[in-house]
Amino acid sequence: MANIGYIQVVRHCNHFCGFCSNPTTPYVHTIDSMKLLVDDLVARGYFGAILTGGEPSLHPELPAVARYATERGLHVRMITNGHRLADAEFAREMAEAGLKLVHVSIYSVKPDVEETLRGAKDTLSRAFAAIDNAHRFSVEVNVNCVINKLNADHLDANVRYLLRHHPHITHFVWNNLDPSMGRAEVNQATYTPRLADFEGSLYRAMKLLHAAGRSFRVEKVPLCYMTDFAWASTETRKIVKGEERVVHFLDQKQTVRQTDWEHLYAEGCDECSLRPICGGLFDRGNGYDPAELSPVFVSLRRVVERIIQDPRDPSYPLRDYDAWRADFERRVREARAELADMQQQGGPQVGVVTEQGQRLYQAKRKSEAKKAEALGVAQEREAGEG
Ligand code: SF4
Repeated sequence: MANIGYIQVVRHCNHFCGFCSNPTTPYVHTIDSMKLLVDDLVARGYFGAILTGGEPSLHPELPAVARYATERGLHVRMITNGHRLADAEFAREMAEAGLKLVHVSIYSVKPDVEETLRGAKDTLSRAFAAIDNAHRFSVEVNVNCVINKLNADHLDANVRYLLRHHPHITHFVWNNLDPSMGRAEVNQATYTPRLADFEGSLYRAMKLLHAAGRSFRVEKVPLCYMTDFAWASTETRKIVKGEERVVHFLDQKQTVRQTDWEHLYAEGCDECSLRPICGGLFDRGNGYDPAELSPVFVSLRRVVERIIQDPRDPSYPLRDYDAWRADFERRVREARAELADMQQQGGPQVGVVTEQGQRLYQAKRKSEAKKAEALGVAQEREAGEG
């Protein structure tokens, strides 16, 4: 299985998104503590590592950790706002360190919407430059987009613009907003969309990409809001293929191993043909309304076959539906018996809280309090606060 692990290398950022679910903490990483996490992913037999944050390119040792992970055989990726990658020298350095794929996050191609969402000026031009620089140095480029209230109506306009102006983007990822953590939790009313807000524009966006021969994935969207493209749901693909995901959070959560993708289901889900492979409604934080769920009656087999027979994703060994069904049912039985363990115990220590880290954290809290006030949003709770 092609498991990929996430390493949060920093938690600070040069943007101030009002829905950030992983904002600043006092934890810091040294090159040695990051290497331990790379070693952990190697020991788990993982295929790749995604360097993330905060904004990972703000860690001065990022090229060194990318090089180390590459030398240890991992496929190295990064999720970034593109601010530093817009600098060609930095892009070259990361490419030479072994970076294979970059996810540049863009929420809206409308400059005023993007600025509001980012809490920073002139972010789009740098993100576009980052996309072009990555391509120039042979790093594959994907675009990541968090679905929220302000961009929910024009996800398709984003795709249309990006396909026209940056045709080398190979893959798109949408993450529906996680309303349970960080600033997203305290600003739910401003940013958390209703599922119906984006259903139409997401459908049009996926249709455009499908017609243009690009691949895409969607996270935290129940299948009844993406039925025609159910095979593109990240959770569904992982459920079908029996994959897990490790996240090394740079905060008190530390290492989390996700093996159980089930969230919340409504009464009508029992009737739904896609229920066995649907991740349900991402209900953490009570940001979404279960009343929006509605059963669908489409072929489960067709969705599963589309995933296990995908020529671009050979990570699951079985190609035949009946063989898959037997494997799947065995996995479900085993998972029920084990009561899937969400919290991995005994993982390596993830970062440390130093005096300097605490000082930087407090300084960042102060400067971000001003940004929050200017943006008219709330600041996240203090790290460690319940
Ligand atoms: S009705 Fe329930 S099981 Fe069916 S797609 Fe929607 S959330 Fe998933």
